[in-house]
Amino acid sequence: MIQTVYHFGGDAPHDDERQKDKTVTGGKGANLAVMAGIGLPVPPGFTITTEESVRYLNEGEDFSDKLRADVAEAVAHIERSVGKKLGDPADPLLVSVRSGAQVSMPGMMDTVLNLGLNDETVEGLATSSGDARFAWDSYRRFIQMYSDVVLGLDHGAFEQAVEIAKEDKGYFSDTEMEADDWRAIVDEFKQIVRRERGEPFPQDVEAQLWGAIAAVFESWDSERAKIYRRLNAIPAEWGTAVNVQAMVFGNMGDTSATGVAFTRDPSTGERAYYGEWLVNAQGEDVVAGIRTPQYLTRARREAAGAKLPSMEEAMPEAYAELERVFDLLERHYRDMQDIEFTVQEGKLWMLQTRTGKRTARAALKMAVDMVEEGLIDEKAAVLRIDPMALDQLLHPALDPDAPRDVVAKGLPASPGAASGAIVLDADTAEQRANRGDAVILVRVETSPEDIHGMHAARGILTARGGMTSHAAVVARGMGRPCVSGASSVSINLADRKLRIGSRELKEGDVITLDGATGEVMAGEVPTIEPELAGDFGTLMDWADRYRRMAVRTNAETPEDCRTARGFGAQGIGLCRTEHMFFDTGRISAMRAMILADDERGRRAALERLLPEQRSDFAEIFRTMAGLPCTIRLLDPPLHEFLPSRDEEFQELASDLSVGVEHLKRRAGELHEFNPMLGHRGCRLGITFPEIYEMQARAIFEAACEVTGEGGDPVVPEIMIPLVATRRELDILRKLVERVAADVFEERGASVDYLVGTMIELPRAALMAGKIAKEAMFFSFGTNDLTQTALGVSRDDASRFLGPYVEKGIYQRDPFVSLDIEGVGELVRLAAERGRATRADIKLGICGEHGGDPASIDFCETTGLDYVSASPYRVPIARLAAAQAALRAS
Ligand code: PEP
Ligand code: MG
Repeated sequence: MIQTVYHFGGDAPHDDERQKDKTVTGGKGANLAVMAGIGLPVPPGFTITTEESVRYLNEGEDFSDKLRADVAEAVAHIERSVGKKLGDPADPLLVSVRSGAQVSMPGMMDTVLNLGLNDETVEGLATSSGDARFAWDSYRRFIQMYSDVVLGLDHGAFEQAVEIAKEDKGYFSDTEMEADDWRAIVDEFKQIVRRERGEPFPQDVEAQLWGAIAAVFESWDSERAKIYRRLNAIPAEWGTAVNVQAMVFGNMGDTSATGVAFTRDPSTGERAYYGEWLVNAQGEDVVAGIRTPQYLTRARREAAGAKLPSMEEAMPEAYAELERVFDLLERHYRDMQDIEFTVQEGKLWMLQTRTGKRTARAALKMAVDMVEEGLIDEKAAVLRIDPMALDQLLHPALDPDAPRDVVAKGLPASPGAASGAIVLDADTAEQRANRGDAVILVRVETSPEDIHGMHAARGILTARGGMTSHAAVVARGMGRPCVSGASSVSINLADRKLRIGSRELKEGDVITLDGATGEVMAGEVPTIEPELAGDFGTLMDWADRYRRMAVRTNAETPEDCRTARGFGAQGIGLCRTEHMFFDTGRISAMRAMILADDERGRRAALERLLPEQRSDFAEIFRTMAGLPCTIRLLDPPLHEFLPSRDEEFQELASDLSVGVEHLKRRAGELHEFNPMLGHRGCRLGITFPEIYEMQARAIFEAACEVTGEGGDPVVPEIMIPLVATRRELDILRKLVERVAADVFEERGASVDYLVGTMIELPRAALMAGKIAKEAMFFSFGTNDLTQTALGVSRDDASRFLGPYVEKGIYQRDPFVSLDIEGVGELVRLAAERGRATRADIKLGICGEHGGDPASIDFCETTGLDYVSASPYRVPIARLAAAQAALRAS
């Protein structure tokens, strides 16, 4: 019989490996078991497995008899451990109920605290605790949370009732509310529930518990959770666990407290404890930003110039215990931990630990530091960094010398810089971003309903909330710059205006955020390229040590080549020569070539292009200094180079001294119904060999020239695109060889070179065995291969691929992450057949997938020799290739 429930804390054993398996008990449940197992103070409780939630959702939302019995037994275990009973009117046990999926999901139902209170037990709690205010405060919190997350009532009405009561009494803060005040609020809350639901607030504690368990199960399929799953590629089959745990109270007076902490600084990675806490409060108060939390350590408090004492100063004993826990947890998990704790009347209790989210910069620093500390080895460090997170570091920061019109300052919640138009709600953010606008989402605070807007925005600014607020945590995870808790920001949603300090701004005005300093600036501030030394360099060196595949770049300008080399590219995997023709100086020669009436006219125009191409290639060869360079001959359909607007035709006609009508007719002749499948790729070389001849000549002349300058010899790799048959490649290979022989003879010099092809059509993949007879290398053009294998146009896919991914038809956009099952099969097969013909054939990939970690992993297992990625993706590819090699070994 499969276990549905696991006990933790109290006298429960913690030696069952299934209990510590996140896939079974969720992240929270597994870590509670681990903490209890290593002797940390964990309030007793139990975890209902993820499997049960999946079963519940699949089988008509009903609890099994086994689950009911197991939960009853588990509640009895808590009752025995604590010495209190659920529903006991004299001295009730209270529990918390929390969701806990395999990975932390801010989109899910979070927590119900103080479950077990009703009109009777609240009196018992008042007597047993000797604190009536605490009891009624707890009860009103419970009603509000339960109504919100279990009964689905809007929390606005509850908050308003508290605000009105405070105003009537002339109170400034919640802490001034007395027992009787909270008792009156409870009455009002119960009326709100009855009014909204037509039924009273549930008094039966068993019903409360099962209601909460059902709500957690069902939260897995809430809209919010679905959006979060989609954005983070989390499978729907995982389900969520439920954790029920004896309550401990941080709101039992001044010797009680609650807080959240990180064992290292999650923004910088610095080895310094970091956190926030509140005296006499419950956990939600810290995260929700209702009261401004205090610093955990004295050093931080002093650095910030804050007055309210740190926990280190106010509760030295509990704090010392916390430090001991930090140390034990880091040594156990060998990673930075993000924890939640409560101090009840001086005693520390651990409520949660998990591996903490961090910025990319912090991730690098922690990984490098932990290797130095002997906590982990280099391989673990390399495997630990999310390659995509490097993106945060590779992007520009604000130019420190540029003038800044700082209008507000908040917390540096997530690094990076962003400028954009102010938008005041998530839907507007999404709409404007879809139109291509850069926007900054400005909110009082964010909630899980805002996720889509946060994703669409370039940056996020909130008026309330600390470093651990929803906005901060989510933004760091998404890599969006975020400034939180900028308290001088006040938002007037009715007029779509906001006041920042003394400044009045409106929706649509441009602001700039610096997530590294917390500064908010009016207008746009220029940015600069990042510096990639230090920990970044160390980690990349380690990655290179364990990497098998080479990493090249897709680049066609010397500037891109330099950027890519700076990022460690080991050559060019794809130089798309057509991009070199779009230059204003060249486009007219190109157009003259395309519009020429015969071969003679075409050759004359090509003569003009030859020196330009030659000097481009020479410059690239010099920049790449002997590294391999794959140069692809012209690929796109010719009509792409033609003018489209009337004025352009006029201009070109006078340039070429021909009539406009003639030009338009010629352009009309070149029109294609489906250019992606039309007269493009090697078909151009077959029908207009003079184009490929000119390009091959330019390449060989440049290679001879640069080799003649000394330094490493240039070995160009000439690549023929869109080949479907061996015969095409045979004709074009011979053409290239003929030109090479001519150039070498003319120059009295020669260079080594390779001729190869792209594999980007299913037929080419299937015929790879034959094609390899003509090809010294294959480069998988997985953009076209995806397009042609799926029969999905690259240019039109975005209109329908979104819903396809939502419905799980494709797990991810197949143009972003390789469809391993389908397109991958073609790649695997072509690699195999190509190698069978030519054992030393060089294999690479140059589609966009060459910069995508999951696709890179596939390339490793398929045994490709290199991946090629756009310059900014090169470090990501280096790290992903190292991880793939480590995983494969
Ligand atoms: C490809 O098709 O994958 C490729 C790299 O070529 P392009 O994107 O230029 O068509
Ligand atoms: Mg292509």
